[in-house]
Amino acid sequence: MNRPIVFVSEPIAAAGMDILAEHCEIIAPWQQGDKAGEIPPQADAALVRIYTVDDSRLDAAPNLRVIGKHGVGLDNIDIDAATQRTIAVVWTPEANADAVAQHALSLLLGLSNRIKTADAALRQGHFNDRMQFSSLELTGRTLGIIGLGRIGSRVAKKAALGLDMDVLAYDPYVERTTYSGPAAFVDELEDLLARADFVTLHVPLTDETRDMINTGRIAQMKNGAYLINTSRGAAVDEAAVATALQSGHLAGAGIDVFATEPPHLEHPLQKAPNTLLTPHVAGLSDRALVQVATQAAEGIVDVLQGRRPQNPVNPNVFD
Ligand code: NAD
Repeated sequence: MNRPIVFVSEPIAAAGMDILAEHCEIIAPWQQGDKAGEIPPQADAALVRIYTVDDSRLDAAPNLRVIGKHGVGLDNIDIDAATQRTIAVVWTPEANADAVAQHALSLLLGLSNRIKTADAALRQGHFNDRMQFSSLELTGRTLGIIGLGRIGSRVAKKAALGLDMDVLAYDPYVERTTYSGPAAFVDELEDLLARADFVTLHVPLTDETRDMINTGRIAQMKNGAYLINTSRGAAVDEAAVATALQSGHLAGAGIDVFATEPPHLEHPLQKAPNTLLTPHVAGLSDRALVQVATQAAEGIVDVLQGRRPQNPVNPNVFD
């Protein structure tokens, strides 16, 4: 019997490729150093990272039965167009949540312990200036989490149990009776902003969350508070954050995501003081990369073999 054909648009961990290779023929142009190009018309499945899957690409791939998303951001896949064609979409919602939570806390720790500036001072021969780099002790300080979903709830646990922080959470969509973690809910975002020493964002980008942290909201934050963003760049007004860093109202910011990626070298946050900026790497831990590739591949194989996948995005295609 012919084995199904799966198109893998971008490199993934070997563990995921091994699962696919066991059951499918693989078309992966990157293995020959080629660009992804179009989904081949004979493909039964596609596994994509940030590769765009839109209406016209679906039209050109009439045999497609399943699309596996490597990760959680579904904005590169036209889910409605796939659903109309009864193409299943599977994703990996839990696979990199610990990695992102760890990265958010790395930014928080890097800022509170002044790692970047202390390292630079030492390298410049200023060992004896070390009193300038005394840290901000986190024990008993307050972390405000906006968005208590998969990542936010992990941040809450790690910060409360690992760092002994007091944790507040603002998330109007979480049913409080179902939450059993260490975070204390607040009803109003303003309340969280007024009480938190560190604010960390873990919301999806929606009309409601776009520019959620803007000039007005920053003014509601404590003088000397820190902002961490590993969610989506457009959830904060980057220029407003840079202005607040320049004025000192914000003491520091740790940012992994930008409204436009890559951010240009003249981006206001590049010039703002006391920032830790990383290139959208929060989800890219060794473990997460294996888990994401494995789960996306397993979801594809499940659908191709007629089983209901563990993480369907459009479960109605199985009805
Ligand atoms: P999730 O859906 O599990 O959690 C998001 C939470 O935000 C939900 O509990 C939801 O109720 C809450 N929320 C939605 N609108 C809100 C609002 N207006 N105010 C307060 N809370 C609101 O998602 P997740 O898996 O935890 O991911 C969170 C974010 O992290 C997403 O934007 C995702 O794209 C981003 N992310 C970034 C990286 C990275 O590499 N930096 C990797 C993975 C995910």
